[in-house]
Amino acid sequence: MFIELTDHLRCPEDHDEAFLVLLPDRLEGRSVRSGTLGCPVCDRRFALQDGVLDFGGAPGPAPASESSALTPDALVPLVGLNGPGGYLVLVGGPAGTWRDIAALVPGVGLVAVNPPVTVLDRDGISVLRGGRLALKTNSMRGVVLGRPYGGDASWVAEAARVVLPGLRVVGEGNRPPLELVDLMASAGEVWVGTGRR
Ligand SMILES: [Zn+2]
Repeated sequence: MFIELTDHLRCPEDHDEAFLVLLPDRLEGRSVRSGTLGCPVCDRRFALQDGVLDFGGAPGPAPASESSALTPDALVPLVGLNGPGGYLVLVGGPAGTWRDIAALVPGVGLVAVNPPVTVLDRDGISVLRGGRLALKTNSMRGVVLGRPYGGDASWVAEAARVVLPGLRVVGEGNRPPLELVDLMASAGEVWVGTGRR
């Protein structure tokens, strides 16, 4: 996990958002390879091993082979990032193509959440696992929800929460609830919108 991503993490419990305290055991450059993150509010601790931070409660990993309309060439224009900086979140299957996505969005940090098991944490990608997005509200430049996340209202709500105001969530699945997302476009099973504020 990129050490700088620590600033954007939150405890997944339902209390007020608070920073997490990183106690690194092993660092390689700017990558935390092992350690513990602790919540100062509820005192929960989360283990980071082999670079992967696991908040618990993750559904089974996305199958790497599942076909998806959210290919790198399709999803990058939809998420609409202009210029470097910040983070793009890839939830589920689309994280399996992170290397091709990285080439299309130079200078943008990539965060894989519950990616296929083939995706290991390394330079260029931070891997998180968990039952929700343990990221701060209004902190990310874009969120891509592969199947089944793109059709799951609880994950759509999380994506709408963490994306910066006016920036985009792209999903594959049923159209999102209109109280969560201002829909910009949809075609087939793919939709794009902004988080409703
Ligand atoms: Zn907590």
